[in-house]
Amino acid sequence: MSGEVISINRKAPEPPTLICACGSGWFTALVCFDGQSVTGYSLPVKCIDCGQEVTP
Ligand SMILES: [Zn+2]
Repeated sequence: MSGEVISINRKAPEPPTLICACGSGWFTALVCFDGQSVTGYSLPVKCIDCGQEVTP
């Protein structure tokens, strides 16, 4: 597995602020679950519209 894994430790996640250069706010990424909560994700994430890899 490549890329950096970011842990999410906030109780109330902030709204997503990552936006691709093409304007899309949707990305694919590897995610880690704890029960039904996402506890982490891998970087970079990939834009679902243009396919560009983006690192926040
Ligand atoms: Zn894009």
